[in-house]
Amino acid sequence: MKILVINCGSSSLKYQLLDMENEDVLAQGLVERIGLENGRLKHETPEFGKKVIEDNMSDHRVALKHVLDSLINEEYGAIKSLKEIDAVGHRVVHAGEKFAESVIISEEVKDALKECIELAPLHNPPNIMGIEAIEELLPGVVNVGVFDTAFHQTMPKEAFIYPLPYEYYEKYGVRRYGFHGTSHRYVVQKAAEMMGKDIKDLKLISCHLGNGASVAAVKGGKSVATSMGFTPLEGLVMGTRTGDIDPAIVTFIMNKENLTPQEMDNIMNKKSGVLGISGVSSDFRDIEDAAAEGNERAQLALDTFDLRVKKYIAAYAAVMGGVDGIIFTAGLGENSADNRKSIMSGMEFMGAKIDIEANKVRAVAKFINTEDSKVKIMIIPTNEELMIARDTKELV
Ligand code: ADP
Repeated sequence: MKILVINCGSSSLKYQLLDMENEDVLAQGLVERIGLENGRLKHETPEFGKKVIEDNMSDHRVALKHVLDSLINEEYGAIKSLKEIDAVGHRVVHAGEKFAESVIISEEVKDALKECIELAPLHNPPNIMGIEAIEELLPGVVNVGVFDTAFHQTMPKEAFIYPLPYEYYEKYGVRRYGFHGTSHRYVVQKAAEMMGKDIKDLKLISCHLGNGASVAAVKGGKSVATSMGFTPLEGLVMGTRTGDIDPAIVTFIMNKENLTPQEMDNIMNKKSGVLGISGVSSDFRDIEDAAAEGNERAQLALDTFDLRVKKYIAAYAAVMGGVDGIIFTAGLGENSADNRKSIMSGMEFMGAKIDIEANKVRAVAKFINTEDSKVKIMIIPTNEELMIARDTKELV
């Protein structure tokens, strides 16, 4: 069975074609600058290598047409005919409270996702455009929606309700939804495999540390708490996002600087986080380099980030009444040994001891705890595309 996985952003689109017999990637790529001039498709197959196609990609449909043409191209394609594609899995960011699992897309499902646009105005519209473009370009093919929010729908009410007047939850759906669910779900399954245990018997803490970052507490395979909230702005310090701050700061700064709600929103989402503290960059590699050269604010940004992750890990161990495994994943979690070491320092009191030598690796699935550590500590490279493909296969 061959499955195409699609992840549509506002001006970009990522894709992978997988053969589910051995879960091999047959082709993958990225379209950038959709809707702008000088669009670009970077396509890659194991046999041919890389191919770049430059053309105007006026919308997601045009971009997907280029992707499908590349998949069947005689020279650099991966399949002979589009008929070989058995189903398409779509990443969709927000499914509100409507879906706790992946589903086959129908008209009713699309309507439900459109109702969630208000909750994810930047993400859901391109996700839906991708689904509609595939319906047009590959008529009759089954489309499956895999939602970032779905995994966290198992959170108990006390973990998702905000201490605001209850009517805002009822009227506007103001509650914690949580994100990165597909990634958290993938790494906890892999962790259980690595630990040789049934996931039902495990208490795991998954740290997805990338440009966007979140922590999830997963008990018996179910998400019971997560750091992102009503939007992906809450929780950890991120590349450019504040994460948790005193909400009173928002109106204070707006008054002082005469800012509109949109301007304040932009500052909290795009100008804050480690970029805001360091003034150097939102990319942790640049910040680590600057800190190594003695830049104090760069070091402060790293320390602030690490302290916040540490607080969430300890809090989530308390929420679950213990922890069997801690997982590091995503760009920073998989690659930065310094960051993992700093987060785990001083966590011996809860039975988690990092092995400094074993930790000196990047992007491999590996235990990095000492032998006498009660808690397993793992690096697990995330693979959201594979998780989407697995769900799609299961549903068709
Ligand atoms: P997202 O998908 O949210 O954009 P990623 O999971 O791709 O984020 O993570 C991107 C971030 O990972 C980069 O901004 C960078 O800071 C960090 N990163 C990647 N490689 C390294 C590395 N070798 N050392 C430190 N940080 C890294």
